[in-house]
Amino acid sequence: MRNPIPIKKLSVVIPIYNEEANIPQLFPRLMPVLEGLGRDYELLLADDGSRDRSMELLKQNAAQYPGKVKIVELARNFGQHPAILAAFRNVTGDGVITLDADLQNPPEEIPKLLAQLDEGFDVVGGVRQNRQDTFFRKFASKIVNKVTTLITGMKLQDYGCMLRGYSREVIDQINLCEENSTFIPALGLLFGRRTIEIKVAHEARSSGRTKYSLYRLVRLNFDLMTGFSVVPLQMFTLLGFAVAAGGLSFGAYLLVRRFLLLRHSEAEGVFTLFALAFFVMGVLMAGLGIVGEYIGRIYQEVRGRPRFTIRKIHGA
Ligand code: UDP
Ligand code: MG
Repeated sequence: MRNPIPIKKLSVVIPIYNEEANIPQLFPRLMPVLEGLGRDYELLLADDGSRDRSMELLKQNAAQYPGKVKIVELARNFGQHPAILAAFRNVTGDGVITLDADLQNPPEEIPKLLAQLDEGFDVVGGVRQNRQDTFFRKFASKIVNKVTTLITGMKLQDYGCMLRGYSREVIDQINLCEENSTFIPALGLLFGRRTIEIKVAHEARSSGRTKYSLYRLVRLNFDLMTGFSVVPLQMFTLLGFAVAAGGLSFGAYLLVRRFLLLRHSEAEGVFTLFALAFFVMGVLMAGLGIVGEYIGRIYQEVRGRPRFTIRKIHGA
């Protein structure tokens, strides 16, 4: 069934944003793995507008591997996913693997993913074992994974793991997508014909702090939900019909009660009414917010600003 054509050249893509504390550890861990693959490779580092010494350190380290390392320097901070996409535009390998710069994704796992690409799978996802993140992050991910599967109909065990592999064909498809807000693992799944998820190790962030604030995390997850499904909008339409139907039946019941059962007017339950009113108002506001999430993204697209600008590619 499968048609395994081994990967000839592997491109490894790493987004970098203020990782000066991790770069000195990154190269000694990563490069021996890449050298040991026994095939051609290239390393693409997407510098996502770092304000610390990252760029300088990247250049220093890259100089030790002439012809192997490209640094895609972005004009400012665009975010992890746009940074990876900027690098995707410049990969030359027939297999591509992404990972994080903070060594949360152990470089030693690269051969495992590559083996699956060799097998003919065109998207290989990592599923983080013993995830080394805060309790809050792990808990939030569980919910996001469930909800995303439910509303997008995609089946991934771990949407957030960025240790992933892609075939050239899938990267070409991803490169054709122009959307501003996106989520690369979901995009990969969309274009992959043969996809697989494999267990990968996970480590605590080597140094420095996470670059994701709560706000950025929420935004990213809305990108995932709104970018790959309109089910949230449909749910509100359905909910609207259900609430309207409920209100109508309740009204009919009150009418019957007033004229046939009680035969006099009653005016209690004011606070129940308040509670109901606030509940419905809350639901309405949430619905409006969801509509807003879509409209905001449509507005972004309509403005048509570039989702990333590359200042320079070093070592090309
Ligand atoms: N990153 C980036 N741009 C950003 C935020 C993050 O390029 O705006 C990079 C970061 O340098 C790291 C990877 O994306 O290599 C994952 O970031 P981080 O470790 O902060 O995320 P977490 O592991 O907490 O989800
Ligand atoms: Mg991290």
